[in-house]
Amino acid sequence: MNILVLNSGSSTIKFQIIATDLESIANNTDRRLARGTIERIGGEAIITLQAGEQDKKRSTAPLRDTRAAVEFLLRWATSDAGPVEVQSVADINAIGHRVVHGGEHFTHSVVIDADVLRAIEDCIELAPLHNPTNIKGIQAAREVFGAGLPQVAVFDTAFHQTLPEQAYLYAIPYQLYRRYRIRRYGFHGTSHRYVAYRYRQLKGIERERTNVITLHLGNGCSIAAIRDGNSIDTSMGLTPLEGLVMGTRSGDIDPAIIDFISVKEGLTPREVETLLNKQSGLLGISGLTNDMRELLDEERENNDRRAHLAIEVFCYRARKYIGGFLAIAGGAEAVIFTGGIGENSSEVRARICNGLEWIGLELDPERNQEHGHKTGGLISKDSSRLAAYVIPTDEELLIARDTVRCVSGVAQRY
Ligand code: ADP
Repeated sequence: MNILVLNSGSSTIKFQIIATDLESIANNTDRRLARGTIERIGGEAIITLQAGEQDKKRSTAPLRDTRAAVEFLLRWATSDAGPVEVQSVADINAIGHRVVHGGEHFTHSVVIDADVLRAIEDCIELAPLHNPTNIKGIQAAREVFGAGLPQVAVFDTAFHQTLPEQAYLYAIPYQLYRRYRIRRYGFHGTSHRYVAYRYRQLKGIERERTNVITLHLGNGCSIAAIRDGNSIDTSMGLTPLEGLVMGTRSGDIDPAIIDFISVKEGLTPREVETLLNKQSGLLGISGLTNDMRELLDEERENNDRRAHLAIEVFCYRARKYIGGFLAIAGGAEAVIFTGGIGENSSEVRARICNGLEWIGLELDPERNQEHGHKTGGLISKDSSRLAAYVIPTDEELLIARDTVRCVSGVAQRY
């Protein structure tokens, strides 16, 4: 089957076309036929497209909305420039959508029907920025591909629905949880789930024996404790703002700071929330950039105290969470790094792990240098009691596989 994977944001669509079926899933022989990004939808869109292993092609086109963008990508995919396996619309067999918030309703990926769409709409309250744009993507795909083509929703929150009550409840009046479902949901579930799955493949162990701590460090960052294959705690909460320091998000802060800033700076609480989401984190501390690469630039870090501080605060928070999650999980076999920073920066991995030798985590400097985005693998010493790995994430592949499983009526492996 050829699966179109759509990740539809406010003005950007990321997509991939992946050839996979139950046999390819079992044999790990899925193939990526195409990938691309359409940015700045609503004006002159910037389009990056890649068929198979060919070079990426960049272009621009006026695309007024999500539907126009989906039409554009279908036209490209079925043209001579697109992958040879896709000649007409009939060569796309199903669509898998990334949906950010599934609330308490969705514990697994599902085929989208009217009830499911309504339930995703019900979660808008919990993710006012993300779910509406995901829904737009679903509606646009239905208009362009026709109502007969199966569409599947894969939720960022679903993997964390196994969190026990003591991990997901906030210590605020319980009625607020009852009334509004205010609790910790967690995000990046598809990524944490994928790397835990790859880990057990690498080690040849059963899902039920998978005990790991996974760190997704990209522009957004989160950590999860996985015990017996299930997520038992994670750092993001009701929204993706909680937890680790991120590119532009603060992560954990004292909630009283919101009113304090609001009074001092004359901002509404909503404006303070935007400040915590968009102007904080690495960007906020450094005052320079949210890009870890630029901060790590040797000259910059040596000469710019705030660039150095931003990296230190980032790594310190991650280390603190690793310790906390090892405590609540009763230990783990391995710590796994993934995401743009986790995969590409041996330096950040080394700084996070620095000082964790007492728990038995000893990084191997050469292995740490050697492994990264292209080749995941073991980065700790053989003598290390707690292993460390880099495992490149592939959320799109997992979305495509869940789509196949859902349309084939096969149970998903979570
Ligand atoms: P997203 O969370 O948006 O999916 P990614 O996982 O792609 O983002 O991560 C993007 C981030 O990864 C960039 O903002 C950058 O900070 C970081 N990054 C990418 N390459 C490197 C590198 N070689 N060294 C350090 N950081 C890197």
